[in-house]
Amino acid sequence: AKALGKNTYYFYNDTLDAAAKERLFIENELRIGIKEQQFELYYQPQININNEQIVGFEALIRWHHPTLGYIAPDKFIPIAEATGLIVELGEWVLWESCAFAQRMALKDHGSNISINLSARQFKDTSLIPLLEKVIAKTGIDAARIHLELTESMLMGDVEGSIKQMHQLKALGVSLSIDDFGTGYSSLSYLKRFPLDILKIDRSFIKDIPEDSNDMEITAAIIAMAQKLNLELVAEGVESEEQIDFLKINNCEVVQGYFYSKPVPEHEISLMVDKIQG
Ligand code: C2E
Ligand code: CA
Ligand code: CA
Ligand code: CA
Repeated sequence: AKALGKNTYYFYNDTLDAAAKERLFIENELRIGIKEQQFELYYQPQININNEQIVGFEALIRWHHPTLGYIAPDKFIPIAEATGLIVELGEWVLWESCAFAQRMALKDHGSNISINLSARQFKDTSLIPLLEKVIAKTGIDAARIHLELTESMLMGDVEGSIKQMHQLKALGVSLSIDDFGTGYSSLSYLKRFPLDILKIDRSFIKDIPEDSNDMEITAAIIAMAQKLNLELVAEGVESEEQIDFLKINNCEVVQGYFYSKPVPEHEISLMVDKIQG
């Protein structure tokens, strides 16, 4: 930065300062938000496209800040992660989403619940006892809990990750690899991870059917998942053409705006009726 001259140096420094200030501000607001329960979960359905039945929901966190309004998870999750606040927030997400899944089961609505874990939560030693408590108290069948992990959180310490994944599997929960194809995991690692579900990232789906490369990659991912005995979920499905492509290629479960955006719990019944007729 020095070589660029005095002005640039100060500019660069100010920018850093502004970013740091914003982070600090959000961190502080996060603490208040957790205390004042400003968070809510929205749920997006996962649909079997062969019979149009909802097989489950993904829980997605929403922050309605009293003065700033909606703050996207992509903006505050990384800060919650860096500060460790994610552990408390993630604990709330687990309780809330499993209680939700039990309410849905009573109504005979789609039964699985997909929950995003952050790297910090995944590595935290309190995760296993927490899950034991959640499963015991809510009475949920553990196999209905689908924990979503990303490649990047598994690749740092591969051996440690495999061990933690086996401990989670011992509780009976299912494990998904989220955003598949965007990270760095090689196929040989994929085989060693005790995974149940592979979620094809939206970036491969979004330009189908215009992009023939993406169609080939998606077809290859599907074939590979089937070889490895993994269930599949295609993310970010927005069009009929994409549904047709996935049907032909035997990817049965999809999630995306084509069927529904994530919605709050009070809108679930209406959404279920629209999809399942
Ligand atoms: P993700 O896990 O990959 O979640 C899917 C994101 O894609 C969601 O964004 C969802 O609203 C959006 N989406 C779903 N279908 C479509 C579609 O058809 N088109 C488009 N354009 N987008 C679609 P959202 O809710 O903003 O969440 C962003 C990310 O924040 C999530 O990505 C996840 O990584 C993280 N996140 C959300 N909730 C939680 C949580 O409770 N805990 C943790 N650790 N992370 C969370
Ligand atoms: Ca996810
Ligand atoms: Ca995803
Ligand atoms: Ca994502």
